[in-house]
Amino acid sequence: MAVNHEDNKPVGHKLYSELAHKSLLRSDALYKYVLDTSVFPREHPCLKELREMTDKHPRNVMSTPADEGQLISMLVKLINAKNTMEIGVYTGYSLLSTALALPSDGKVLALDINREYYELGLPMIEKAGVAHKIDFREVSALSFLDQLLQDENNKETFDFVFVDADKDNYLNYHKRVIDLVKVGGLIGYDNTLWTGSVALPPDAPMLEFIRGYRDYVIELNKYLAQDSRVEICQLTVGDGITLCRRIS
Ligand code: SAM
Ligand code: CA
Repeated sequence: MAVNHEDNKPVGHKLYSELAHKSLLRSDALYKYVLDTSVFPREHPCLKELREMTDKHPRNVMSTPADEGQLISMLVKLINAKNTMEIGVYTGYSLLSTALALPSDGKVLALDINREYYELGLPMIEKAGVAHKIDFREVSALSFLDQLLQDENNKETFDFVFVDADKDNYLNYHKRVIDLVKVGGLIGYDNTLWTGSVALPPDAPMLEFIRGYRDYVIELNKYLAQDSRVEICQLTVGDGITLCRRIS
């Protein structure tokens, strides 16, 4: 079955049962330990509600795992981010994590081609009292970024950008986002280890949707590793998140 769990293409439940969870930790017990010990006890009640609602959605595998949400929250606070952007919202787990971590006058510009997904999580975002920080746009991200870049005033204005949409466009996003983020600001690219497939030989057996995007993720990782405009850090949280701190 040709599917992609990271965008809008059809998906099937059976496929995901093969994945169990998205963490790269190969011990289910250890991952459960992390969640039960350090993540769930501190999860905001509205994030919990959003996560449990999303768990019942057919495309739930797209959601940011709770431990990664905790990481995003910590990063946003550590860099004192105020002006942020998210590319790829789905039902909003990472969005709500970001919005909760921002100061009351902080902003997150949230881009997704599908407003319906966002609206599933919106009641929990409103209940958490952070909807005023979110500017959701139902747009195709690439052309929207191009529009933003047409106005010089938007350049170097974002403290933090989380990229979690169509993997085949990540390099295109990077070429634009790099000019929108401040020097000293942070970009997070999600799913950069792509269930570990990036390290497998090309002829290794893998699910079709994994194979379909693998080359794009490998190309992005190579590009980021040689991009002197950023300092990078590849984390193995979730499905791999690459942090890029703009340095020039
Ligand atoms: N960050 C989300 C979370 O925490 O649940 C998960 C995002 S999900 C992996 C990817 C999202 O990207 C989907 O909601 C999909 O509609 C959106 N998307 C796919 N292609 C897009 C595009 N070209 N522009 C904007 N959004 C896109
Ligand atoms: Ca993701």
